Amino acid sequence: MKIVLQNLTKVFPSRNKKANDEVTAVNNFNFEIPDGKLIGLLGPSGCGKSTTLYMISGLQKPTSGKIFFGDEDVTEVSTENRGIGLVFQNYALYPHMTVKQNILFPLQNLKGEQKLSKEEMLERAYNTAKLVQLDELMDRKPAELSGGQQQRVAIARALVKMPKVLLLDEPLSNLDARLRLQTREEIRRIQKETQITTVFVTHDQEEAMSISDMIVVMKLGVVQQIGKPQEVYDSPANLFVAKFLGTPPINVFNGCVKGEKLYIGQDEVMAVKGVADQEVTVGIRPEGFQLDDRGPLQCKPTNVEVMGRDVSIVSTHLASVNPTIRSIINADNKIDISQEYIRYSLKAHKVFIFNKETEERIYFEAK
Ligand code: ADP
Ligand code: MG
Repeated sequence: MKIVLQNLTKVFPSRNKKANDEVTAVNNFNFEIPDGKLIGLLGPSGCGKSTTLYMISGLQKPTSGKIFFGDEDVTEVSTENRGIGLVFQNYALYPHMTVKQNILFPLQNLKGEQKLSKEEMLERAYNTAKLVQLDELMDRKPAELSGGQQQRVAIARALVKMPKVLLLDEPLSNLDARLRLQTREEIRRIQKETQITTVFVTHDQEEAMSISDMIVVMKLGVVQQIGKPQEVYDSPANLFVAKFLGTPPINVFNGCVKGEKLYIGQDEVMAVKGVADQEVTVGIRPEGFQLDDRGPLQCKPTNVEVMGRDVSIVSTHLASVNPTIRSIINADNKIDISQEYIRYSLKAHKVFIFNKETEERIYFEAK
């Protein structure tokens, strides 16, 4: 099921008239979510992710704009009649019911044409449990399950009605690191198997990048960029997006362009053809540095962090916005940080420049 968001806006009015503190939680969101894809809705806390999801679900009514499921305008359709499955951060299972009863519950409430016979219900519940690999645990109570298993029950409960759209709001936040990784792979597998159009909300960029077909990056209710995870990482539209994606994060410098050359402090680091003279903000991905005795960027090394396959060299530079710079270098390199300075050359496609005021990307030709 394709989902279309058209000029979708949600304004929460002020609590009292004097305060004048209304919040535009979602501001003119336009997007066509393709059928059968998993979309990651990504951004810091408070940027409007949940509000967007609740509007898609019908739990909240947009202030303006429209929502379509396929060609049908569902803006005024109630949550129950939208054919969605919802999963929240806290699994909200019925503690006194077994896994089987929890999964059966949504089916027992179906009315009219949708009503199922007892056998049909059981068959559906078992098929769904199999899909989320809970079929061996049907007689347990939630308290007898791990967090990851509980969340899978919640997912099964959302899936058992065979929704056209699956909406997940930070479903992994309550899980520990290892379970999070497992469960996100599980969600990806289930989504691929069922081909249900899915919107996955998270503030965790790595999570969103790893499971989404496309990500939507939001800030203060405004969509910043939409694209395939790798494309957005490789070509961020502005400084916010560049900083939000990637671990370790992108390194940010104060720089300037003079005569189509980019300077970081005194160091002339590369050609930036077609860019007018101006002060700029420079972002360099950690993997964009190459150790090079004759490289143009001169940094003061402070320490080396070993990460197995790679090492991370921590260094400083006067023009760096943050106290330290982090480069990622293949561990095969000989790394000597006993010297006062190390020199880097830069991979041009890992260097981005941004307008100092608007923080929008300035595009250039490297050669
Ligand atoms: P996210 O899920 O990205 O953390 P939300 O969508 O929950 O963000 O919230 C977006 C903004 O809208 C925040 O500033 C939040 O305080 C505000 N907000 C959310 N729900 C309400 C509400 N019911 N009443 C007033 N303001 C709200
Ligand atoms: Mg939220």
